[in-house]
Amino acid sequence: MSKSTISIHLPDGSVREVPAGTTPLEIANDISPRLASASIVARLSPLSGLSAVASGEESAEEASMYAAPDASAARLVDLSTPLVQDTRLELVTDKDPEALKVLRHSAAHVMATAVLELFPETKLGHGPATESGFFYDFYREKPFTPEDLAEIQERMIEVVERDEKFTREYEMREKALEDFDRHGDFMKTHFVTKFTHPGEEVSFYRNGHFIDFCRGPHVPSTGRVKAFKVLSLAGAYWLGDEKNPQLQRIYGTAFFSQKDLDAHFARLDEAARRDHRVLGKQLDLFSIQELAGAGLIFWHPKGAMIRKIMEDWMREECLRRGYQLVYTPHVARINLWQTSGHEGFYAGNMFTPMELDDAMYRMKPMNCPFHILIYKNSPKSYRDLPARYAELGNVYRYERSGTMHGLLRVRGFTQDDAHIFCMPSQIESEVAACIDFAEAVLKTFGFTEFKVELSTWDPNDRAHYAGSDENWDLAIRSLDNVLKSKSIPYKTIPGEAAFYGPKIDVKLVDVLGRLWQLSTVQFDFNLPARFELEYVGEDGERHQPVMVHRALFGSVERFFGVLIEHYAGAFPLWLAPVQVGLVPISERHAAYADKVEAALKEAGFRVETDARNEKMNAKIRDFANQKTPYILVFGDKEEAAGTVSVRTRGKGDQGSVPLVEFIAKAKTLVATQSTEL
Ligand SMILES: [Zn+2]
Ligand SMILES: [Zn+2]
Repeated sequence: MSKSTISIHLPDGSVREVPAGTTPLEIANDISPRLASASIVARLSPLSGLSAVASGEESAEEASMYAAPDASAARLVDLSTPLVQDTRLELVTDKDPEALKVLRHSAAHVMATAVLELFPETKLGHGPATESGFFYDFYREKPFTPEDLAEIQERMIEVVERDEKFTREYEMREKALEDFDRHGDFMKTHFVTKFTHPGEEVSFYRNGHFIDFCRGPHVPSTGRVKAFKVLSLAGAYWLGDEKNPQLQRIYGTAFFSQKDLDAHFARLDEAARRDHRVLGKQLDLFSIQELAGAGLIFWHPKGAMIRKIMEDWMREECLRRGYQLVYTPHVARINLWQTSGHEGFYAGNMFTPMELDDAMYRMKPMNCPFHILIYKNSPKSYRDLPARYAELGNVYRYERSGTMHGLLRVRGFTQDDAHIFCMPSQIESEVAACIDFAEAVLKTFGFTEFKVELSTWDPNDRAHYAGSDENWDLAIRSLDNVLKSKSIPYKTIPGEAAFYGPKIDVKLVDVLGRLWQLSTVQFDFNLPARFELEYVGEDGERHQPVMVHRALFGSVERFFGVLIEHYAGAFPLWLAPVQVGLVPISERHAAYADKVEAALKEAGFRVETDARNEKMNAKIRDFANQKTPYILVFGDKEEAAGTVSVRTRGKGDQGSVPLVEFIAKAKTLVATQSTEL
């Protein structure tokens, strides 16, 4: 039923009665013209019910561009949308993170406008905003050239200068499909068919002569797209299928100001400078060998030294925290993977089977079934619980060729994996201990900021989850309680849990503000049932234990990659593969060099002496290029006084100090795992 007057509830609590059909822009103008010109879009949410924030999930991206919005959720609309019912209204300015997505998607329309003006034969795919910009997929027989991209950028500037209004139009679905079909717009036909229903009106956005099937919202006009850049071109098969035509995806990025755009490129430069693949080569830390295959890591002596320190620290901490260390094989008979369910659910991520004389075998993609077999090997009573088995286990997972990326995406890696078998009453304290441990990992390795997510089930989708309602309720409540009692802020993500249990993910924030998913603490109601695990309770009866999977580095390889980038290869003293570089000024100081080296080694330091007949400055430069934390230089004067001249990474020449004094200070820095020098 339509009303002539509607109530608009504003964020400050005030309510405005306005005629139905009033637009958010009119309301903004009424509040202040300044607010009106700063507004990008409006956020509407229903007065009753949950005011959930629309999610920005990658997988939902396509659907969110076209499909009808969920009526109960908050949604963004154009400033020109006529309001027809009572609603909560928030005017969204460029301060709001969602506004940037709207801007970037609008920039994608501007790009498509430019492309069609320059290359009218092009067919349009779609053009969503991404985490760092936007892209648009095009189909054109002739590939775009770098000169074409420059021309597209120039034409986009013109489209922006024309300041064309983005207006929304509607057409009956059948008519739209007919038109697209007639023009050979096979991608648009696909999207309309997939995301709308027969008999519906579908929505289009027009700016000037350009029109695109889209649900919006958009910025008010092309003139709002102020700072943008066309970046690159990539090929992709339509719908990811090699049998389909190849599309050309043009990437770009856009910001609300030139300043933000410049800062973005500065960040990218900084990220390139820190690229672990480049530093890995420069510092001789690791390699990937063509002859051996993609995604398989060779740890060179210096990288291996850092890995040893990481692993030693991890094993010591595990023992200190009541874990037991185990070792398990790299392969197992296929029967094991059938019992665990991997053969059914996970086969696509595993290396293909290999046939030996007695059976088929597979490389392990996970350690869990092995730890379970250890648990199951002897009867357990409540006195044995919790049983915490930890292993730095090598696992192998199939990644498609061409998708590997340095240490971050590989086919073979080492999980700092542990499985905790416990009674339901022990869940909360075990999870709390896991979170403490995860925090200790991050803090020790120099990360101060992290984000926590709690993935839970969707109770309305019962069929997709293993385990009883009681189990799920207990597990989610426990995870919730632990995070609350530790005052750790977290985001709950309903429906994101694995089918076998809820989980907590810890994402660290690196020095460039990038998020990295590392630690995970995951419940499992499934495997204990599949393997018929038991313990005898205090009541003398048999019960099924609860199982927790947890990995804190996640993957040792990946964590190492993140460490390299976080520190730009300048590792803290306790992790540096060579901690002290020795530079004797001339050959006659060789004996003193031996003495200094022996004293440092005696104190536990990793030392390298540059005894070459080279200029002092060349030796210093070589150590500096290796990002060696301390370089000690000495000649006659130092030898006579029993001192060393200290050059500290990042601080330069610190003058001469007695060797014993240097050793004492450096020892403290190592013992406290300090990130300072
Ligand atoms: Zn659009
Ligand atoms: Zn596991």
